[in-house]
Amino acid sequence: MSQNIQELREAICDVGRKMYDRQLCSTNDGNISIRLDDGNFLITPTGVSKGFMTPDMMCIVDKDGNLVEENGPWKGTSEFKLHYKIYQLRPDVNAVVHAHPLYGTVFAAANMPLDKPICTEAALNLGEIPVIKYGLPGTFEICGDIEDYVEYHDAVLMRYHGAVTFGPDVLTAYYRMESLEFIAQQEFAARAMGIVEKATIPQNVIDELYELRREKYSAPDSMGPHHIANKK
Ligand SMILES: [Zn+2]
Repeated sequence: MSQNIQELREAICDVGRKMYDRQLCSTNDGNISIRLDDGNFLITPTGVSKGFMTPDMMCIVDKDGNLVEENGPWKGTSEFKLHYKIYQLRPDVNAVVHAHPLYGTVFAAANMPLDKPICTEAALNLGEIPVIKYGLPGTFEICGDIEDYVEYHDAVLMRYHGAVTFGPDVLTAYYRMESLEFIAQQEFAARAMGIVEKATIPQNVIDELYELRREKYSAPDSMGPHHIANKK
């Protein structure tokens, strides 16, 4: 079945509003993209708040991020390079969401992966959430060392920057951003209370949940050869 581009434009606007309303990004921050059947990509325009987008603002770009067709004053985000890297490495991914959620961004800045789940859903939904190396936004460096992680995770933190999540469709990619921020808030609360060790799920239970995640959801193996513990 061919894609309904208008519906996809509207879906991006819906996700943008949710992202802005939940304070996962401020002002014009963040960007969202969808892979199209013809090999091009639908992406959010640069310089526009994700909370106030209309479907006509969405841009269609090729794999190099160049506009396939002019779209009035709107140009695609310069952070498309990060999106494309993920699409290249994960053929199963059809949508990418990038944002700067407060708690996730603080953990990212401190190079602290989210690997101490205190809630079973956190372990089941996203597994471990690693931190990729810093890279200058707007350049290919923004991808950091994401290629070392992207095969094994659906959500990663970006050092001194924010977070990126991805999935088979734009709503799933967005929900993963929501989950990432909620997991960061949970770990923050446990740390603030000084109970992080007491609250963290025991390792044998985490292993069991990760196993379930792989079997039930055919999720990427976040405990694979790039397990965070091996990187430290
Ligand atoms: Zn950003």
